Amino acid sequence: MNIPRTLLSMVLTAFLAFSICGTVTAQHKNFILVIDAGHGGEDPGATRSRYLEKDINLEIALSLGSLITRSLPGVDVLYTRTEDRAVGLAARGDFANRAGADLFLSIHTNSNASSSPNGSETYVMGMDKSDDNLAVAKLENDVMRYEKDYTTTYAAFDPASTEMSIIMGMMQYAHFESSLEFARMVQRRFAADTPLRDRGAKQGPFAVLWKPTMPRVLVEMGFISNDSDRRYLYSDKGKAAIVEVLYGAFREYKEGLDSGITPAPAPVPAPVFTQTTPPAAPVTAAPPVTAAPPVTATPLVTTTPPVTTAPPAPVIVVPPVQTAPPAPTVIREFYVQLAAARTSVSVLDNRWTPYRGEVVERQIDGWFKYALGPYTESEAAAKLAEVRRTKFRDAFIVR
Ligand SMILES: [Zn+2]
Repeated sequence: MNIPRTLLSMVLTAFLAFSICGTVTAQHKNFILVIDAGHGGEDPGATRSRYLEKDINLEIALSLGSLITRSLPGVDVLYTRTEDRAVGLAARGDFANRAGADLFLSIHTNSNASSSPNGSETYVMGMDKSDDNLAVAKLENDVMRYEKDYTTTYAAFDPASTEMSIIMGMMQYAHFESSLEFARMVQRRFAADTPLRDRGAKQGPFAVLWKPTMPRVLVEMGFISNDSDRRYLYSDKGKAAIVEVLYGAFREYKEGLDSGITPAPAPVPAPVFTQTTPPAAPVTAAPPVTAAPPVTATPLVTTTPPVTTAPPAPVIVVPPVQTAPPAPTVIREFYVQLAAARTSVSVLDNRWTPYRGEVVERQIDGWFKYALGPYTESEAAAKLAEVRRTKFRDAFIVR
């Protein structure tokens, strides 16, 4: 397998830079939010008679930015567009990277050939193979063809390739949990404060979420193709409520960061798993999230592999064992991550079946991450394929 090295190192560099500077800069500079109104110019997005997705996206984006600027000190709001003009999908992410953004929020309106699907959903970058999610991503990615050099710009963007899967895994490693947490905050408010059906926080291979190297989500506010959703989206009451939903979720996310807990803890039931698969057995209620990690219970069985609590991403170099011929150094630094939780879960818990006892726990950025490994690049890719055939179908590769 031949992973595009430059892209891989770019992702890693971004991750390392974030790890080192993240907490320091958060306290000394304003929070930078990039609001991305989907589509624009010759690309109308989804349409239904006189209703164009690009217009409602822009209207919500500008209202949201204005409300945040008026109400939340310490936030700089930047827009990928403030008028009806075309902006490439990759260019939107490049803009956010150059700005040193802390959060990227892409605003869209959904559409379906059938008029019955309805409701709001929020996506994070991921490789969920659900047909519905792929269909939405395909629809949003299709607008690439409005860009002149799209075959070159997106040459490395192939959601079907194993290489892409690994690269996306690296990206997820840096910001997956934070992105998912924000996506859930958005969806909780859609469910509580609007009549729009809550379709949940999901994963999909969205090209517009490919480039940004910070927590990032794409909101599909509702379906332009559904009569009831469309009436609501285009009503003054509906627009105001949606702006409030996004504003409230952003404020909650930012307050979580300001309080030093990343991402914001409340009111998520703990432990929070990034897996959607229901647990095989109930897990004892966890204590509230605090700065100090809970003490892991001493395992009763001595065959348990040691729980790794070492610093993030240990690089384990396995020296060549054979004397001749000289073998190349094998670097095992890749893990297949099954899930992450805010509180510690025993590596012997039934929910890890069929990998119960093989799972290692790593504490990174306030999360307890459960993974298999370490592996070489190719071992990790093979293991990922195996793992995704089990209930851990959202597993991904990390360092
Ligand atoms: Zn769209």
